Order: sequence, then structure tokens, then C-alpha cells
Amino acid sequence: MGLFSAEKPKQYEIDGIKLVCMFCKNESFYTRKEQLQSPARTMFNLEWTDATATCFACSSCGYLHWFMR
Ligand SMILES: [Zn+2]
Repeated sequence: MGLFSAEKPKQYEIDGIKLVCMFCKNESFYTRKEQLQSPARTMFNLEWTDATATCFACSSCGYLHWFMR
């Protein structure tokens, strides 16, 4: 995957639970952060409240796991 070529896949834990691919059971992932912007928030100068989703892409099959927090 070209998007992730600069990174190496790593293992992650979320709240003490190891992240395992739902599809192929692989345990290493590429991550990236996705900013979920909303025009209303920008209008009211509340960009800091914008939700950021962390996206884990399985290094084996590419299945995407999204976490919103
Ligand atoms: Zn997978």
C-alpha cells in the first residue's frame, strides 16, 4: 500500500487488549489519524472539538479498523 510505505507495521493495544485483525487475525497494523471535520464546528470556531479517528490498517490484508476517541 503506497499510502503507508514510509511506516513499518506495529502491534497495538487498546485499553490493554491487543489489536487483532477481525478478518485475518494478523497482529501488526499501520496507523493514521483521520480528521473528521464538520463545517458547523469551523463556523463556531470549535475546531478543537473535531473528532479525530485513529485508523488501523492491517498490514496483511488491509482491513481497516476505526477508533473514535
Ligand atoms: Zn488482516
